[in-house]
Amino acid sequence: MMSEVEPYLSQEQKSLRARVRDFAREEIAPLTARMEEAGTHVDLIIPALLAGQGWTGVLIPEEPYRGMGAGHVAKMLLIQELSYWSGAAGAILQASLIPALALQVLGSPEQRAQWLPQIAAGLWATIAVTEPDAGSDILGMTSTAYPKRDGSWVLDGHKCFVGNSHIAGLHLVVARTGAPGSRGQRVLSAFLVEADRDGITLQLPSHIGLRGFSAGTLLLDNVTVPAANLLGEEGQGMTAAYGASMVCGRPNLAAVALGLHQRLLDETTAFVTTRPRRGGHLSDNRVVRNRVAEIRHGLITSELAVYHASALLDRSVPCDAALLNAKLTAKRTAAAAAQQAADLFGGYATRTDHPFARLDRDIRHIAAPAGPDDIQLHHLGEATLGTERDQWSQRFTAPSTTQATSVA
Ligand SMILES: Cc1cc2nc3c(=O)[nH]c(=O)nc-3n(C[C@H](O)[C@H](O)[C@H](O)COP(=O)(O)OP(=O)(O)OC[C@H]3O[C@@H](n4cnc5c(N)ncnc54)[C@H](O)[C@@H]3O)c2cc1C
Repeated sequence: MMSEVEPYLSQEQKSLRARVRDFAREEIAPLTARMEEAGTHVDLIIPALLAGQGWTGVLIPEEPYRGMGAGHVAKMLLIQELSYWSGAAGAILQASLIPALALQVLGSPEQRAQWLPQIAAGLWATIAVTEPDAGSDILGMTSTAYPKRDGSWVLDGHKCFVGNSHIAGLHLVVARTGAPGSRGQRVLSAFLVEADRDGITLQLPSHIGLRGFSAGTLLLDNVTVPAANLLGEEGQGMTAAYGASMVCGRPNLAAVALGLHQRLLDETTAFVTTRPRRGGHLSDNRVVRNRVAEIRHGLITSELAVYHASALLDRSVPCDAALLNAKLTAKRTAAAAAQQAADLFGGYATRTDHPFARLDRDIRHIAAPAGPDDIQLHHLGEATLGTERDQWSQRFTAPSTTQATSVA
């Protein structure tokens, strides 16, 4: 089935989509059964395969950092196509792109020169913001970073749900540098923490889905980093966390949802058109056809919303409302599609050996990262009623990310 946005893509974007589609079918699809059987675990094969393609550098400029410089729409194509075969593969790629963008936007020339070529070459990164008692409420975090006399920083804290926790070579950790309990915009700072620093412990709680993707716990006990590892200026932690989540995290999760949603549609269509019923098939029934139509309706709506927001980013058009809408729409339509599909699969929807089980579980993972629905609505309300201070999509841009070949 042709994608809704195919006619709007440039030739380069169409070629990239064809390439990732072939790659995902040939290289990723054969791995998913084994990954499902393994339960929550850290897959190392997919990261190696993705790194080999150079896709960790999709937003990183070719010059001077040896990335792809392909832009936001290209990024969405990669994540969506990978997620069609494996939500975990899409999640792995997208999680690293968020800290990479923060580095591009806030990093000093030295930090960019040190880290961006490594990330483009396949070094995995995380953004560690969430804590057990502070998720949506970022300013509620209690992890701390204290300066020492020599200018270095000591970090202590407990971060959870850290995407790519167990494969990363670099963690972008946001911690409190302001007074305990204070809530101003500049009480947080961001730090580049190499994964092999003393004092770091990783844990991997069990998750219901995205098997193979590590969303683990990062414990920081007296972890010392040099002054040069402060990202941007002291007090820019909120900018790093929220800007990257708005401009990169929200569309990324929406793209994972799109891939899973498309697969759900294809699995459902295959099921209802082959399942025998009274000399014909289930799909002969008008009610069944309408349910399939509901799933397609959601997919079309979602795809247009998601690529619209990404195309605006590639054109440097302020688009916070479109980004919020993209995440909200993609999550809601995928979740609604899963419910429609569950009804259509009947008893098979309860079988762990049916493809629906994985898709249903993976779709549930889209809800929280980059903000649950209520948070998207909260900010959409502020954007609509004019109480938002200014647009992250305007403030949080690296000049290099706008050189992309955008939607024609
Ligand atoms: C698969 C996965 C990957 C993730 N990856 C990362 C990552 O890489 N890095 C990272 O730092 N974190 C990551 N997270 C964490 C994610 O960002 C948080 O789960 C998310 O911010 C929500 O925080 P919370 O779970 O603490 O929920 P809470 O903030 O406690 O919210 C729970 C519910 O309370 C309600 N609520 C809360 N605040 C409001 C409000 N202001 N207005 C209205 N309703 C509200 C909403 O209904 C919300 O769903 C990931 C999570 C998952 C599941």
